[in-house]
Formats: sequence, structure tokens, C-alpha cells
Amino acid sequence: MECKRCGLCCRMVGFRVEGMSRKELQFLTTRGIFVYPMEDGFMVVFHQECPMLDGNDCRLHDGGKPEVCRKGDCLKGVPWFDAAARHYRLEEGGI
Ligand code: SF4
Ligand code: SF4
Repeated sequence: MECKRCGLCCRMVGFRVEGMSRKELQFLTTRGIFVYPMEDGFMVVFHQECPMLDGNDCRLHDGGKPEVCRKGDCLKGVPWFDAAARHYRLEEGGI
């Protein structure tokens, strides 16, 4: 998918966690942190806006962007990503 500069992937960061106790899960969810159950664990997603974001654009030129941003695939349409965007009320057009 071609990037439409919605800025969503610059406003959230997710980590895959394999094992989590019920108590750990509750610590996260009661604090408003989005957790999505996966086949092999959980995807924990934080609402964390990159300081390099300017509107929905990146302040850094392509050459200056971190490698992870230059090579990253668009996650729109991936269930955990879309659900996290809804959870944090960051859906495209709603920012
Ligand atoms: S989520 Fe996809 S469309 Fe939106 S800024 Fe990131 S790469 Fe571009
Ligand atoms: S450096 Fe640019 S592309 Fe990477 S997360 Fe920040 S704003 Fe987005």
C-alpha cells in the first residue's frame, strides 16, 4: 500500500509480547493501554507521537529518517493496528 501520509504509524508503537500474566494484562488495560490478543501472545500498543512529526508529515528528509521508518511497511488494514487506532481515536481523518 502506498503511503497516504495519514501519520498513524508515527503516532503509535507496538510490541509483541509472548507471555503475560493476567495481572500484567490488567496493569496495562486499566491504564488505557491497548492490548490485542494474537495467536502467539499479545500486541501491546502505546500511543506515542514521534517528536519529528509535523502535522502528518515527517520533519526529516528521506535520507535522514531512521532506517525503520524508511523501510517500514504500511500497517493499515492489519487488524491490531486498525483496532489500536480506533482505541486511541486516531483513525484517519479523525486526528
Ligand atoms: S499508516 Fe500507512 S498510510 Fe499512514 S503514514 Fe503510515 S505508512 Fe503512511
Ligand atoms: S522519524 Fe518521521 S517517519 Fe519516523 S516515526 Fe518520526 S515522524 Fe514518522
